[in-house]
Amino acid sequence: MDQPKVHRYLSQSRLAEDPAAAPSPISENYQRTFAELKERLAFDPADSPELFVAYTPEARVETLEIDGDCSIVYDQRLGQSFNRLNDFALADWPQPYVIQWGLKHLAVALAGCGDSDAAGAALMCSQVWPVKDRPTTRSKEIFPVRMIVTAIQEHFVLAHECVHAAIERGLPTADRAEFVANLDAVAAFLDEQTGNPDEAERQMIQDEARAVQAMSGAQGTPDPQLEERLRSARAQETRDGGRAAGEILAGKLDLREELLCDQIASELVLAKFAAMKLDFATILTSILHAFHNLTSLSVIRSLARDWREDGPPSPELQALTVRKGVWRTNMRATEEALGLDREAHSGFVEITELHASTVGDPILFILPFEFHRIMEKLDGESFDKTGVYEALHALGTQPPGLPSTEA
Ligand SMILES: [Zn+2]
Repeated sequence: MDQPKVHRYLSQSRLAEDPAAAPSPISENYQRTFAELKERLAFDPADSPELFVAYTPEARVETLEIDGDCSIVYDQRLGQSFNRLNDFALADWPQPYVIQWGLKHLAVALAGCGDSDAAGAALMCSQVWPVKDRPTTRSKEIFPVRMIVTAIQEHFVLAHECVHAAIERGLPTADRAEFVANLDAVAAFLDEQTGNPDEAERQMIQDEARAVQAMSGAQGTPDPQLEERLRSARAQETRDGGRAAGEILAGKLDLREELLCDQIASELVLAKFAAMKLDFATILTSILHAFHNLTSLSVIRSLARDWREDGPPSPELQALTVRKGVWRTNMRATEEALGLDREAHSGFVEITELHASTVGDPILFILPFEFHRIMEKLDGESFDKTGVYEALHALGTQPPGLPSTEA
């Protein structure tokens, strides 16, 4: 596809004014990875997708079919967001940094919904949000690990998009009738798990206690009203997860291709990084961490959409919940098939706990709470729309080189 079409699409659909204005200094690295993936998936060179490396505030990767041509847009800002969120979790950053980061991304999402006053408020507050005690030393210590984790996650999302294009072309690597047939059994298993009230209840109480704890760390004493809000938010989430898995079973939600892409993309990532002498548990744990990061980004987009009134959970968030659950179940089977003794299992539990306590809970519970407080305080104050959009556009103008550390 000729690039102007992709540029036009991006400038119409995102905050990026001119996506071609600042080419990424590490664009070649992505092109190399992409060429490798295309080879592994056995694309016909005459009919294969092109990669367009973008850098937009939205941090969104997508596959475009325009006039019969296929382009994959890889947004470097997504990798940058992974990098930042990995650092927050692995170096255990203080919560105010996570909220500051969340407000900035919320501003972008609100602007995308056309809510410029709320976007202005979120952006302004992210700029003046009180932060202190940056864990610089710890952050430096874990830098080499974080680079690998981020590289695995970027590879995974790019591979996932490539598999979509391969499926579209009916390539042999994408032919997994057995996998698709097996999804019913996986969904039934998940449904049973999330539908079990005792297990769901136990999990909910545990999560709720952790969220209240996180909140009391931020605010002093927990507020009883807030505890109630947390309880109902978590209960809703648990029910949504169960229902979404049930819907796959009933064939109502067309998620099968997503699940297949996750599976094949994981195999591609395993092949690539195992050849670099990384162990399977590390690779799989990093992929699960990517799912958790994607969930937090999706929670922010949902908040932007629904903050004025509660709506049903966004389909994107529901889909991610199911993808994560099915992926975990399938990876257990993959491990068994490879003769590994649940090596990744403890890594999964650990990263899930770590992400929830450092990033997941603050974004899910504290960001909405703080944002509502901000909007109540501002009480209908309006912002200069042009100024807000200019400031947000500026977020998408300087793609980082290696290593990318700020977002
Ligand atoms: Zn997909």
